[in-house]
Amino acid sequence: MRPPKLPVKSLDILGKPFAVEDATAVLELEDGTLGKCAHAKCFIMLNLSQNRAQLRDTLLHEAFHAIYSEMGLCEDIPEALEETIIRRLATGALNLLRANPKLVDFLMEKQ
Ligand SMILES: [Zn+2]
Repeated sequence: MRPPKLPVKSLDILGKPFAVEDATAVLELEDGTLGKCAHAKCFIMLNLSQNRAQLRDTLLHEAFHAIYSEMGLCEDIPEALEETIIRRLATGALNLLRANPKLVDFLMEKQ
């Protein structure tokens, strides 16, 4: 199977441009990590060796890490809980949006 292409090159996260980069070679050397968010540097690294379904989950997961940090949750919640909170909320949000395309249309209305 051919690895997926980079799905987006940047994301606007709370008004900040986050670069999204193919970091497959680097992340494969780090035990096959699927993605990373360097929120202070505003960039997300993706391992493109995963299939497209997993890549969606990973990209949203890393975006949630950025939101989590930008919203200051890391100051209020013990660090040990961040990964489990992000994993569950990002996967839950992805499934909610994919299962309810009319909800996505409603959320994207201009007025
Ligand atoms: Zn994570």
